[in-house]
Amino acid sequence: MSRTRVYKVAQELGLSSKELIEKLEELDINVTNHMSTIEADEAELIMEILGGEGKSGSSENNAGKENESDLEVIKFAGILTVSELAKLLGKTPAEIITSLIKKGIMATINQEVDIDTANEIAFECGCEIEVEAEEEEEIEGLEIEEDKEEDLVYRSPIVTVMGHVDHGKTTLLDSIRNTNVTEKEAGGITQHIGASVVNISGKKITFLDTPGHEAFTSMRARGAQVTDIAILIVAADDGIMPQTVEAINHAKAAQVPIIVAINKIDKPAANPDRVKQELSEHGLLVEDWGGDIISVPVSAKQNENIDTLLEMILLVAEMEELKANPNRKATGIVIEGELDKGRGPVATVVVQNGTLKVGDPVVVGSTYGKVRAMLDDKGKNVKKAGPATPVEILGLSDVPQAGDQFIVVGSDKIARSVSEKRKDKIRAAQMKASQKVSLDDLFQQM
Ligand code: GDP
Ligand code: MG
Repeated sequence: MSRTRVYKVAQELGLSSKELIEKLEELDINVTNHMSTIEADEAELIMEILGGEGKSGSSENNAGKENESDLEVIKFAGILTVSELAKLLGKTPAEIITSLIKKGIMATINQEVDIDTANEIAFECGCEIEVEAEEEEEIEGLEIEEDKEEDLVYRSPIVTVMGHVDHGKTTLLDSIRNTNVTEKEAGGITQHIGASVVNISGKKITFLDTPGHEAFTSMRARGAQVTDIAILIVAADDGIMPQTVEAINHAKAAQVPIIVAINKIDKPAANPDRVKQELSEHGLLVEDWGGDIISVPVSAKQNENIDTLLEMILLVAEMEELKANPNRKATGIVIEGELDKGRGPVATVVVQNGTLKVGDPVVVGSTYGKVRAMLDDKGKNVKKAGPATPVEILGLSDVPQAGDQFIVVGSDKIARSVSEKRKDKIRAAQMKASQKVSLDDLFQQM
């Protein structure tokens, strides 16, 4: 479904975003800020009500896309740091840092800025930044072939739990894991790799353990999307809170289906109906309100209705028709990276396509290696990992970052040379940034 930004609607109406947001509030339509999105037909309706010409809503290609006369669109490839953003907008890093502080974000010059925040600042300069995937065509050995339809088979869903702090993300994940522990495993799950696979009568679901939308956003800012389904957890005694709204916006921006888990229904103050009402105010109409969003009342703490939630995840996964080709070299995403004292660089990855095997030469972000060993989510040594499987891998030459892509390549030599080229590129970019910074510093001192 096509969506349009609040500020664009405001521009169409000749209003400031703030004025529009106030008017929307009067209409009981709540949006977070000028970068929030609204559905195109809703935008059209708003423009009609508020007396616009309906210019933008009427032609299809306007609703989600850029209007030439609008903002200047700046395309950007790579990681958007404070200094990159400054360069793009023709400002000094100090000015960007000041703008960020005003938004309550403390940032240093080399810190990454998420795209929404970057665009809030860009918008004030009359620009919009679009992050493009970095083109890599000059590096040999990295070509990823498209899969043929007949090679694709069903794969299990990869799920992230998001929601406001203390609404029960950790408890829910624990409860899901425990539901699934077989008797002989019980007490044996000590190893923990940042993702877990649960098995429901033969079908699997992969849960990412980095709950919260921070991981989700920072990965997406780097062009990596691992999540297929978002579980939005809302405490029934607390209702929709600021981070719930953020989570909703992130899931919508990523176009990931949402399942709502209304948690803490064991509490006397629980009011699931109020949660549903509040959800509707944020554009999420649950099924018993005539919408198509699945909501499941649960108690993560008392293990109530967790099985229903898991069934619903499988149901949504089925509708999503998630597919992959297990018979190819693996590609996937790093969800965690760390330096282990005894084992060296360790990365937890989720295979997105293909099958990862021990011995595979692999490029991971700007680092590389040969998979020396793999551990599954139960801490068991495995020789291979198929689509949607999370594994910890050993054998990399350096620690990769969350959001880095991994690609199995044809040989150790290719892996090393790709990594070297990428490192050169990063070094060159850093050099450029530091030169720019010192010039800025110089001007500031004058
Ligand atoms: P997170 O910040 O979203 O990860 O939330 P936690 O999982 O840490 O939970 C916050 C608090 O709520 C903890 O004290 C949990 O024990 C409690 N909690 C979580 N789920 C439930 C529930 O279903 N019922 C009740 N009564 N308390 C819960
Ligand atoms: Mg937690």
